[in-house]
Amino acid sequence: MEYQFNAEFALKCDAEDELKNFRAQFLFPQHKGENAIYFTGNSLGLQAKNAREYISEELDDWATFGVEGHTESRRPWLKYHEFFTKPLASIVGAKPSEVVAMNGLTTNLHLLMVSFFRPEGKRKKIVCEGKAFPSDQYALRSQLRFHGLTEDDLIEIQPDPVAELITDDRVIETLEKHADEIALVMLGGMNYYTGQFFDMERITRKGKEIGAVVGWDLAHAAGNMPIKLHDWDVDFAAWCGYKYLNSGPGGVSGIFVHEKHHGQTEIPRFEGWWGHDKETRFKMPETFKPIPTAEAWQLSNAPVFAMVPLLASLELFEQAGMQRLREKSKKLTAYLQFVVEQVRESTGVELKIITPKDPERRGAQLSVIVPGVGRKVFDYLMENGVISDWREPDVIRMAPVPMYNNFEDIFRFGKIFEQGLKKFAK
Ligand SMILES: *Cc1c(COP(=O)(O)O)cnc(C)c1O
Repeated sequence: MEYQFNAEFALKCDAEDELKNFRAQFLFPQHKGENAIYFTGNSLGLQAKNAREYISEELDDWATFGVEGHTESRRPWLKYHEFFTKPLASIVGAKPSEVVAMNGLTTNLHLLMVSFFRPEGKRKKIVCEGKAFPSDQYALRSQLRFHGLTEDDLIEIQPDPVAELITDDRVIETLEKHADEIALVMLGGMNYYTGQFFDMERITRKGKEIGAVVGWDLAHAAGNMPIKLHDWDVDFAAWCGYKYLNSGPGGVSGIFVHEKHHGQTEIPRFEGWWGHDKETRFKMPETFKPIPTAEAWQLSNAPVFAMVPLLASLELFEQAGMQRLREKSKKLTAYLQFVVEQVRESTGVELKIITPKDPERRGAQLSVIVPGVGRKVFDYLMENGVISDWREPDVIRMAPVPMYNNFEDIFRFGKIFEQGLKKFAK
């Protein structure tokens, strides 16, 4: 498509967008009486309008039924987590038995590593990406120490200092080089900083080939990229619900465990009653019998109120469909790239996009280096109703989310960005 940096073009694209009505299903922060230009859905997704009604319904059912609500409420709390299974499975390309919504992301990474990081003899190392999200680094390092290992057993693949990216080839080379030492490959599918999407299928295949376990942190990938966890033979994965999936601040996370690991009592696991066989759960037998699905990793009964907004959002995902969202997403990100390049020309500021240009290697995000005046321009954007994200020392991250952002958002951002650069960059 021939992109143009003007309002008519953006409005025309919006008029032709078959997902355009989903925007009206969300609540936007307001700036001077108008919707702000919200580009931080990769950090905290917006509130679906029906979340409030669904929360009221749960409050009502609690008031009406008390404890009986576990079975009598309109969405019985006893099996509340089950309402998430189907929509989550289709978002991450899994069988329904392979996913469950529970806990927070870092908690889940730990629970899954208890089961799937089992260092033995020489095969004891973890591979991760350099400059991984801090929480992941803490989780990985503390898992190593927990097993009596040291940080020397963490292989961090460092990004290229100029491109700031880690090529898939680099990952493959690292796996080959340390083939008989790697116990676990644990990368972020989508890098939170650069917006790079790894070739998960290829890396998973190589990881399995060298005899390692392969797990993925999909914090920035779930609800953003088309993923096929089951077909790619991924062992496990976890993601947060509050980024692209709009579950609200601190909202519930999701996990994937491949079906080949289900029903096995010899897998080490931290156990809780919600992972125990449903038939005998309330007979309270002494011996734990895992549910033969990903639910075996659950510990506690579902935190209903923390899960409601996710339900509201997943309904919209089911209606929109990941494929259509992805198609729109490619166009939005490409348009944002075009606009940034236009602004680079019109202002002469050496803006540098660090996110890959290849649409298959990125999702709904662009990270742009704004040399010198980055912070000032970022503040200018915020003052003028563009909510984006700042990363030291000079990166502005923007996520045009296909569920609720549109072309006009990007056009309007472009104009404000251009003004800001002209004002501060001399
Ligand atoms: C957002 C994010 C987290 C956040 O972890 P929580 O446990 O949900 O607080 C962790 N890892 C990555 C890669 C993230 O992007």
